[in-house]
Amino acid sequence: MKKQLPVHKMKFDQTVVEENRLRDGLTRLLFPRKCPGCGIVLPTGALVCEECSREFTLIKEPACMICGRPLEYGNEEMCYTCANSTRSNSFGVSIFIYDDLMRNAMSGLKFHGQTDNVDYFAAMAVSRAGAKIRSFEPCALVPVPVHKTRLEERGYNQAELICEKIGEMMEIPVVSDWLIRARKTDFQKNLGSIMRRRNLEGAFALNEIDYPRERVESELSRVMIVDDIYTTGTTMENCASKLKEAGVTEIGLLNISIGAGI
Ligand SMILES: [Zn+2]
Ligand SMILES: [Zn+2]
Repeated sequence: MKKQLPVHKMKFDQTVVEENRLRDGLTRLLFPRKCPGCGIVLPTGALVCEECSREFTLIKEPACMICGRPLEYGNEEMCYTCANSTRSNSFGVSIFIYDDLMRNAMSGLKFHGQTDNVDYFAAMAVSRAGAKIRSFEPCALVPVPVHKTRLEERGYNQAELICEKIGEMMEIPVVSDWLIRARKTDFQKNLGSIMRRRNLEGAFALNEIDYPRERVESELSRVMIVDDIYTTGTTMENCASKLKEAGVTEIGLLNISIGAGI
């Protein structure tokens, strides 16, 4: 069995970071960065155009402590859905409302290869929720996995790219070979709530060979699951309950975007 590095020792190789920076500089000359919202070419250093930076809807307090959805009343702790559903996580934060502009930015990232959009999402996640993420003290960030055939079609898992960028910015390890998508599922957005649940039964599995219970208990007792879009929470709950079974004691969620809700 290959030797496993403890999670907290997964560090950030400075030469790799420098090489990436140089490669990014050259790539930028050939492929200038475009605005995630409207697609116009951006001036050097900008991650979003001025107009879209005003148009994207950032989530403000009060927000649900479990999923991060905005709340109508400040005296509530949880949204209606979280209060009336099984939730295995004890904390959650969301950054943007999933409106038309965000739908456009996410579909650019997921279906049109606009992986640059990740930098804007990660930067906003760190500036808006960095302090909350720090105070949760996650041992690692865990992306919601995609099935390997989808990974082959797309070439990347967008949630993993977001995780890696945030992990690099905040120096939190990213563990992406632990929670796996065991079964290819239909896109959740096309299904009603009962079918959503059924669609995900048995969808997630764990790599118990590299992450046995003793390792989870000693190195991964608190983790934060990261995804691009949160709708009903069914996917996240499936991931969270799986990680709970594996021995994780505290689970947090980070959603880049979330439906404005119920
Ligand atoms: Zn724009
Ligand atoms: Zn909620």
